Amino acid sequence: MMNVKNVKEMETILSEVCKKEIEQCSYEELYTALLGIVEEESKKHVMDVKGRKLYYISAEFLIGKLLSNNLINLGLYENVKACLEAHGKSMADLEEVEPEPSLGNGGLGRLAACFLDSLATLNLPGDGIGLRYHCGLFHQKFENQCQSETPDFWLGGDEWAKKTEKTYTVSLAGEDYTARLYKLAVTGYEGRTNYLNLFDLDTVDSSLIKEGISFDKTEIAKNLTLFLYPDDSDDAGRLLRIYQQYLMVSAGAQMILEECKERGSDLHDLADYAAIQINDTHPSMVIPELIRLLGEEGIEFEEAVEIVTKVCAYTNHTILAEALEKWPKQYLDTVVPQLVPVIEKLDELVREKTEDDSTAIIDESEIVHMAHMDIHFTHSTNGVAALHTEILKNSELNHFYKLYPEKFNNKTNGITFRRWLLKCNPELTDLIESLIGPGFKKDAAELEKLMDFAEDEKVLKQLAEIKHDNKVALAKWLEHTQNIVVNPDSIFMIQSKRLHEYKRQQLNLLYLIHQYFEIKEGHLPNTPVTAIFGAKAAPAYTIAKDIIHALLALSKVIADDPEVSQWLQIVFIENYNVTAAEKMIPACDLSEQISLASKEASGTGNMKFMLNGALTLGTMDGANVEIAEAVGQENIYIFGQSSDQVIRTYGHSDYCAKEWYETDPNIKRAIDFLTGEEMLSCGRQDKLERLKNELIGKDWFQTLPDFNAYIVRKDQAIADYVQNPLDWTKSALVNISKAGFFSSDRTIAEYNDDIWHLGE
Ligand SMILES: *Cc1c(COP(=O)(O)O)cnc(C)c1O
Repeated sequence: MMNVKNVKEMETILSEVCKKEIEQCSYEELYTALLGIVEEESKKHVMDVKGRKLYYISAEFLIGKLLSNNLINLGLYENVKACLEAHGKSMADLEEVEPEPSLGNGGLGRLAACFLDSLATLNLPGDGIGLRYHCGLFHQKFENQCQSETPDFWLGGDEWAKKTEKTYTVSLAGEDYTARLYKLAVTGYEGRTNYLNLFDLDTVDSSLIKEGISFDKTEIAKNLTLFLYPDDSDDAGRLLRIYQQYLMVSAGAQMILEECKERGSDLHDLADYAAIQINDTHPSMVIPELIRLLGEEGIEFEEAVEIVTKVCAYTNHTILAEALEKWPKQYLDTVVPQLVPVIEKLDELVREKTEDDSTAIIDESEIVHMAHMDIHFTHSTNGVAALHTEILKNSELNHFYKLYPEKFNNKTNGITFRRWLLKCNPELTDLIESLIGPGFKKDAAELEKLMDFAEDEKVLKQLAEIKHDNKVALAKWLEHTQNIVVNPDSIFMIQSKRLHEYKRQQLNLLYLIHQYFEIKEGHLPNTPVTAIFGAKAAPAYTIAKDIIHALLALSKVIADDPEVSQWLQIVFIENYNVTAAEKMIPACDLSEQISLASKEASGTGNMKFMLNGALTLGTMDGANVEIAEAVGQENIYIFGQSSDQVIRTYGHSDYCAKEWYETDPNIKRAIDFLTGEEMLSCGRQDKLERLKNELIGKDWFQTLPDFNAYIVRKDQAIADYVQNPLDWTKSALVNISKAGFFSSDRTIAEYNDDIWHLGE
């Protein structure tokens, strides 16, 4: 392969690979050709590994489409784009050809993807280990104002993950299965190439899928990697999750030991060759599995425990108790009987160490607590934002913190600027580069130099124009994909993230109902408002689906009412994924980060919006706290209860939603509207009533106490946006210039300095 670093050469190569003139090529042919070119180029950047290498094990890697991102990282993007344009083709149309890889479902998986990008960019030796799911979470469609789910096939055609001849034998429920390794090259921005290692079974069979996304959960050989996170509302689904997790960690652990031995490790010194980061509890079984494998290699149990503890580190992603995995021991007896004796011995070690039952691995009901095993038998436990780590230390994991204060540390999440600025917002990237040079692409802290332009009206005007262009682009995309027309001159307020009660899309819903009443009464907002949502609800999460239903029904009520619709529009983007996020985020004016304080571990969507010049409307939760510190109170809209207040209320269990409903007429009016005649004419009574009852009877995430504060702050934001556009844009500029801290390059450098020490 020749050097492809200029347009002419790119033309020659492309037409050579395609064996015809570029004009005559279909986009599919061009995509295949470029995929091959990227593959060749990325191989040139594979480097030898010396010292410690990282293995980031994660059940999810939400990597997004790869072509443009890889071209950017390899320095080929501009040439390819120019070359295509010279022949009447467009990059945007080319991107349409690529299916989005469905290997994750939200922030946790997206974080893993950002980390891989930063590792390679920082020239650190670090691979991912995960599963090659045949279908992602699901493809979301809206029918009759309800979410429906269909399989999200993305394999077939040309794939980035290459099948290898490498296989590992994994024993599941006493039977041997063959896990095959697929390797996906991860290119760094002007950096090295690392790999995402994905395991799969050759026998998986998608004809098992019946209606929607249901399938026979018992035939492991055929269904193991069919779906990401199969529905775990029944036993078969939960067992399947354990099967998946063990396939990943057993094949992964075997691969790690093999690689380290090839590099000269005698396994006693494994910690000099490998660092393993356990991304949330899904890969926790890697701990007993490694101990078991080291045992097979002749290493005594106690030494194996010591080695594994030195090698492994654990990241906690949540304080929601229901999200901390725990499995009945019986499940493990069924699926991984070979691990149970190891886990029992680890549990004994813990009991020798402390009499505190609350830190046991196996509790008195024979439930195995994966996070407990992680904390005891890794050398580092980190939270993902400053507030989150403090809550872990002081309340959720306080008993562990007292045992091991030295293990606890914070690593505030970050995002890769290559995808979330360079790739998704080229116009803004160009403006920034013209003002402060290109250094910010690799050293995000340089964005701070933009502060010099905070009073520069010409720059502020350019910034406002770019935002408007991006809003027009989103409007066009929406019209093209969903046949929805929006007004780019309205304010775009976006809440896009997984649908979960703690994220409180229902609070936004109540606001929009309130706004509907205000408009009806002649209290018009200062400008037309477009409220945009993107969110998938887990298929078995009933209330989450009811919230989607209510928003879609309300959207229709408003659209059908000309009096209101000229002021207010609700848009729900179908099938929210990375591709959609890349279109939405650059077009956002106001970023909705309204989780109940103390519940969102970090959030990374908040960082993406900030980087693209949106102002945040948020609670003091997760990384919002650090965003607020960075930009200053005058450049962010904060509202709502503090995390201390919320934790206290939970402690006293004395929150009563009904009191709020009965005493606050605005709250009552908004909630009652859910089952009023307007909504019932567009929606379904059973669902709307269920949601109403949930809000009055439970409201576990305390929507109602924050309702009025939310309205006040949001209306303030809208008024500021209209009345002082220059000040608004200045705030946007401050947000962009202070976003440097939230680069995943910074996060990864911290992990490396404090936990991994790679290459040493
Ligand atoms: C960043 C991202 C998320 C995480 O969003 P939060 O607001 O942090 O929950 C989820 N999904 C996609 C597609 C993303 O890009």
